[in-house]
Parts: sequence; structure tokens; C-alpha cells
Amino acid sequence: MTERLYYEDAYLLSFTAEVIRCEQAAKGVRVYLDRTAFYPESGGQPADQGWLDEKPIRDVQEDDQGEIYHLLETPPEGTVTTGVVDFERRFDHMQQHTGQHILSALAVKQFGWQTISFHLGQATSTIDLDTPAMSAAELEQILAMANRIIWQNGQVSVGFYPSNEISGLDLRKPTDRTGMIRVIGIEGYDRSACGGTHVRRTGEVGIILVPRLERMRGRVRVHFVCGGRAYQLWSSEHRVLMQLVEITTTGYEELPQKIEKELQTLRQLDKEQLRLKMRLWEMSIPELQERGRKMGAMTVVSAELDESLDAIRFIGRQLTVRYPATVGVLASLPAGVLLVTRGPDLALDLTRLVEHLRRHATIKGGGRPEEVQMGGLDARSLSSLIRQVIDWLDQNSSCAE
Ligand SMILES: [Zn+2]
Repeated sequence: MTERLYYEDAYLLSFTAEVIRCEQAAKGVRVYLDRTAFYPESGGQPADQGWLDEKPIRDVQEDDQGEIYHLLETPPEGTVTTGVVDFERRFDHMQQHTGQHILSALAVKQFGWQTISFHLGQATSTIDLDTPAMSAAELEQILAMANRIIWQNGQVSVGFYPSNEISGLDLRKPTDRTGMIRVIGIEGYDRSACGGTHVRRTGEVGIILVPRLERMRGRVRVHFVCGGRAYQLWSSEHRVLMQLVEITTTGYEELPQKIEKELQTLRQLDKEQLRLKMRLWEMSIPELQERGRKMGAMTVVSAELDESLDAIRFIGRQLTVRYPATVGVLASLPAGVLLVTRGPDLALDLTRLVEHLRRHATIKGGGRPEEVQMGGLDARSLSSLIRQVIDWLDQNSSCAE
């Protein structure tokens, strides 16, 4: 078995090792060493990156037998190789992972919530807690304590115990592993079995922030960032905040009230605009009727309008209420919808019109005898459909009364 150097020293940057064997695989060459400082992907923590004899390592994984292999494009040339760990990436993982221990410990201590799973992601990391909900006050309590533990700068210890002795250690979560168990301690707060990489003292975690909570089927997913990632998050959010402050010429504390007020004004203006538009549409009804085509006792008013679907429905209603022997053939260009509506003095069954049109083309829509609607139309198909509707109305004008 490969000796895992990171078990004892997560800060070990470079090491020499003997090449045990190399195996050709689909994505490169698997290189097995007698010892390694590279962490293989496991337990929710991604694999380390780095170099073997200055050749970049593509991946570090455990095979089916639990042996660590390093995936490279070509194998090392000699029997002894020098490995160098990408420490910036490793230290970031150490910060996130240690932060996870602190959060998970507090969730159990304060509220009895166990951590079901942990994932160290690209942007944020997550723990899933076995609680259906978490209030803002509960989160605040955990976060305040977590950051206090960081400032106390307690030791993060690594110990090895035979599995038959761990019952006395009061681990946060029982483990079913056998043999020697690696136990990570957060001084004064937590002990848990873990094979990951951690910082030496809690102070190195820097700070923990929780950008969001996600409720999912009986559990709560806590998204968190520690150390460098927390600084990055603060920086990018602060940049946006300062832009908003500049745009609104308001202090950042007053931003929510200011934006709420502006939105309220906008909503009022929208309402006012709609009222004025409705007034205009109402005024345009006689003119539309005037331009209508007489077909026996009925008048057919057709128009392609640059108005919303709600607007053409309103216009159709106004038209047929005021002129009960009129058929409105009204297209909403932005919605791509054709509305055909008739007044109460006419006996036409417009669902028959839709049936008729369907015989020649695929038509999406339908409705009631006095009003039908067809959608999913572009400007060209709207114009041609209007012509077909007018032809049908012309042929059926005698049975309209
Ligand atoms: Zn851990």
C-alpha cells in the first residue's frame, strides 16, 4: 500500500518516491508510488494537482483495491521521482475542509443536526444537514460561534487509533472502518474520523461565510466558503454593492429602501401607462369599426397590432360589446397570437373555423364558439392566417345571423 504522506503532514510540498509500477489506461498512464503527498479524490474533497518530475499530474485517484495512482500523459523516466504539490489549491482545500469540521461540529452541538454529506465544490462547498429547515437566527448562531472558534486559533490535531479503541473517543459520528482510524480533533470542540487534509490551527481557516441555504427533501444544504474564498466572495459582492451605491447615490445601508421605493414608483407608472393605453385603445374602436369589411349583416374588422395579447383581448372585447354584429380578427405581433372574436348578435361557431384551418395546416389553439385563439405564429404566418380567416368568414357569412 502507498504510504500517505499527507496523513501526517498536510503541509508537505515536495517529496521523493520510488516508482512501483506504471499502467497504461484510457486517459493516460497510471503511476503507482511507494509513498505520496498527493491527496486522491475522496470523501467529498477533490484530488490534488501538481507535478511528478515537472510533468503535470492530470488526476489522483484510488483504484478498486484502494491503491493510489497518479494519472500522467507519460510515465516518469527513472525509478525515483520527485513530486511537487500545487500548494495554493491544496491550502484552499485545507481551509474549506477544516471549516467543514467546525460547521458540522456546531450543527450537532447546538441543534443535534448531523452532517449527511460534504462536497468541496469549485465555488462553494456544501454540507447537507439532517434538518428540514434552518432559521436565519439558527444560522447566525452557528456562524458566530464558528468564527469565534477560528479566532481562538485552537489546535487541529491528527491521531491514529485502533478501531477497537475509538468507542471511548466520543467521535461526532460513528465509523464502521476497521484497522487504524485517523481521527481529526478541533481543540475543545470536535473529534471525527477523517482521511482528508486540514490546517494545523483553526486560525488558518480565516473566516467562514454562508452565502446561501438550500432546502431539499427533508434536509438543508448549507453553502459555505472559508478563508481565501470568503475574501473573494466579499470582494465581488462589495464591488457590486459599490456600483449600486454610485448608481443610486445612496449610502449602502439605505439601498434596500431606496430600491423598494424606486420599484414602487415604477409599478405605479406601469399602471398609469396601462390606464392611458386602455383609454387610447377605447378611442380607436370606432375607427377600427369604420375600416371593417361588410359581409352581409356582419362586419369583419382585421388588424395586425404591435400590442400585447392582453391588449388585443381588451380591444376585441370593446369592439364586440360596442358592435355586437362584428367579428374581430386581431393579431398580436409581439405575442405571435391571432384572436378571432365575435359579437353576441352573430351565431357563427368559431371552433368550426379552427377545425377548417387545421385541415390545411398545423394550428395550435382553440377556444369557444364566440372566441378562439391561435398561437406560435410569426409575422408572415399571421398575415396568411388572417387571409384564410377572412375567406372562411366570407364563405360562412350567410349562416352568421
Ligand atoms: Zn476532514
